Amino acid sequence: MSGENRKGVENAQVDPAEKDDGASSNFITHIVEEDLKTGKYDGRVVTRFPPEPNGYLHIGHAKSICLNFGIAKQYQGTCHLRFDDTNPLKESVEYVESIKEDVRWLGFDWEDHLYYTSDYFEMLYQSAIQLIEKGKAYVDSLTPDQIREYRGTLNEPGKESPYRNRSVAENLGLFEKMANGELGEESCVLRAKIDMASPNIVMRDPTLYRIRRKDHHRTGSKWCVYPMYDFAHCLSDSIEKITHSICTIEFVNNRELYDWILDALAVYHPQQIEFARLNLNYTILSKRRLIQLVEEGHVNGWDDPRMPTISGLKRRGYTPAAIRKFCDVIGVARRDSTVDISLLEHCLREDLNVSAPRVMAVLNPLKLVIENYPEDASEMLDAVNNPEDASMGKREIPFSRVIYVEQDDFMENPPKKFFRLAPGREVRLRYAYFIRCHDVIKDEEGNVVELRCTYDPQTRGGNSPPDGRKVKATLHWVSEKHAINAEVRLYDHLFNVENPLQSGDFRQHLNPASLVVLTNCRLEPGLLHASPGAHFQFERLGYFFSDPVDSLPQKPVFNRVTTLRDTWAKIKKAQGATGG
Ligand code: ATP
Ligand code: MG
Repeated sequence: MSGENRKGVENAQVDPAEKDDGASSNFITHIVEEDLKTGKYDGRVVTRFPPEPNGYLHIGHAKSICLNFGIAKQYQGTCHLRFDDTNPLKESVEYVESIKEDVRWLGFDWEDHLYYTSDYFEMLYQSAIQLIEKGKAYVDSLTPDQIREYRGTLNEPGKESPYRNRSVAENLGLFEKMANGELGEESCVLRAKIDMASPNIVMRDPTLYRIRRKDHHRTGSKWCVYPMYDFAHCLSDSIEKITHSICTIEFVNNRELYDWILDALAVYHPQQIEFARLNLNYTILSKRRLIQLVEEGHVNGWDDPRMPTISGLKRRGYTPAAIRKFCDVIGVARRDSTVDISLLEHCLREDLNVSAPRVMAVLNPLKLVIENYPEDASEMLDAVNNPEDASMGKREIPFSRVIYVEQDDFMENPPKKFFRLAPGREVRLRYAYFIRCHDVIKDEEGNVVELRCTYDPQTRGGNSPPDGRKVKATLHWVSEKHAINAEVRLYDHLFNVENPLQSGDFRQHLNPASLVVLTNCRLEPGLLHASPGAHFQFERLGYFFSDPVDSLPQKPVFNRVTTLRDTWAKIKKAQGATGG
């Protein structure tokens, strides 16, 4: 599988800042434009996204969706959503529905162009009969093992099957028996009669039809022969009058067969074009393996926020705009490469930076008592909702004598570069006051459980005092008696190596720290009414998303979508500095 031959992470090619959301330009759009110029398809542009409903869509599919729907939009064409549902053993209605939902969520509309290969089964069957009649297909009774053996290798030609020269009449009769369920599953297949010595192994009499005694989720028990991908795919494209049949690079050798079948039947002929599939580091993009992760319980279902599925990214808090932007920025090439996952995170940050309101939340609370603040008093302080966008306005947050700060914002014996709170040290509380730490209270085991501080009333709003004193750190905080409780889920890469497929079983490389659940977080009170599925920036901590499934009215659950640390920007900066 070409998707597994990773060729190093490519960071240098793309810079999100250099691209805008306008029209794309790549080798495929060049082909489309040339065809429009020469009138090859009478000015039509018809593409399709053809998923097999045997799993949930992942971010790799998003690339294909953006490409196919994007090209249709760019050239006023249409894009079909076609379910390539030819294998009843692995497909289900659940997958069909999830795929429709995900494509819609990504922001694309197939209008009334929703198709199923299974709707073409009768036409495909008739096409197979035509090939037999033309002497271009035969029923082979070799066993599956023998067929494999006879196929030959890259260095050796294949061997012709002894059944290859059956008469047209015999083949027609046998094929009918196959279709009528009169023959056993592995007893025979229909094969194209091409060339067992072809240097392209795909062309060595490929199988076109096989017997499967299995009900289909759409056609029920009507069929017991099912077409193979290569046969069904080109003919479905032809039936739908697709112009540009865009697929991933591993199908490059199948193009010869695609063309052969359409030519043999003398039917309408789309152009197959291959592009590089998306690979992401720290990630697996293969439905087969994603199914394993789900079925073996390594993750909590298809929409686990650590999954690279569209539904997982959505549950995590990714936005459709961020995913579309990512697909735009990575571009379309012929050569496979691996994209750094930090680029995906970067696209998300760019989107949420402008849209997500800022709030304060303390994930690992440390109690802090302001001794010179009146016992029962409290006050409301002004806070800005988004410094990037003044139109998002302000809100008021309550302040009182007892607050929480983050445990790791305090150190009893700070090293040189630690500027946050320490005994004797003064810092700013965001939007509130300067405070100075005087005492540290510990439990029997020596853990710091409470800080005793004083505040300077002259610094209200976090402003510098009249004497011009400066502090080196600003901390976020919440008022103890006003704060609400929440669960916060911190996510990290699902795998702890860049390429989980490079050695051993990919499951060995699962990151045990990919999910950390914090159940005792304190949030500013306004978040009690955060609607499920809303985005926030928790100041200094990252972007968070109120989980649409697990949040309860009095107990919200937040997923960390991503941290504020922009690794991608750093990579770009380092490359710039070294001229890379
Ligand atoms: P997987 O390898 O994950 O099983 P698939 O190719 O078998 O995926 P399909 O349902 O056949 O899954 O995919 C539908 C379309 O999405 C195909 O046209 C395929 O080429 C494209 N696609 C699948 N994976 C990627 C990827 N990683 N990058 C780009 N396009 C992809
Ligand atoms: Mg496929």
